[in-house]
Amino acid sequence: MAEPATDEVQAERELAVSGLTESGQTPTEPGYPEIAGEADEPEDPELSGEDEEDEEEELDPAAAARRTAALAHVRKFGDPVLRTRARPVDRFDDTLRDEVRRMGELMNDAMGVGLAATQVGVLHRLLIYRVQQRAPVAALINPEIEWSGKQQEILEEGCLSLPAVHVDVERPIDVRVRAQNEFGEEIVIEASGLEARVIQHEVDHLDGVLILDRISRQQRKEAMRALREAQSESRH
Ligand code: ZN
Repeated sequence: MAEPATDEVQAERELAVSGLTESGQTPTEPGYPEIAGEADEPEDPELSGEDEEDEEEELDPAAAARRTAALAHVRKFGDPVLRTRARPVDRFDDTLRDEVRRMGELMNDAMGVGLAATQVGVLHRLLIYRVQQRAPVAALINPEIEWSGKQQEILEEGCLSLPAVHVDVERPIDVRVRAQNEFGEEIVIEASGLEARVIQHEVDHLDGVLILDRISRQQRKEAMRALREAQSESRH
């Protein structure tokens, strides 16, 4: 694992939180498994007591308002742009760098760990992520997963575009990604664990693929129910 375990835990908590964005306002649906896997978490002091309610309480009103405002800019399930394949970027100019900067701010405010351009309605093969709190936001442009390890693992994922949905997704643990940065320079990233997972999740977005496409039919039915509840709640 490239990053220290504590960062991993911290970031994983954020990943879960990123998928739980609206659920604080959504009554828990009976029968919907509350954050599957949460009970299986190791007894790590870092994690103890940090469930979604605590997270909501800790959030000061200004941060909560920023998060709500940011989430309003994120395209949600049902928007056709989320099902559209993004186009390669060939112009590495200030406009692109501005887009990267704006997406970074949005991701920070929304408390996500990754964001694909399609999620903000821009059909560019561009994703950003940050899995360690103090690390700078990384931008991958025209990313290609050129190698994936054989070993896979199942971890829970959320998505800013799918309020209240959190599902277990199986993915390769290790990947090697070739991409360009916002200046057009070639970069190769060897990622494992959470970083690899976030990159794969966001590359999926650039291909119009959602986590709903990577789970069983039964899981999808439950996820769709949670999503519908959250969406009807947010309309009231
Ligand atoms: Zn997503």
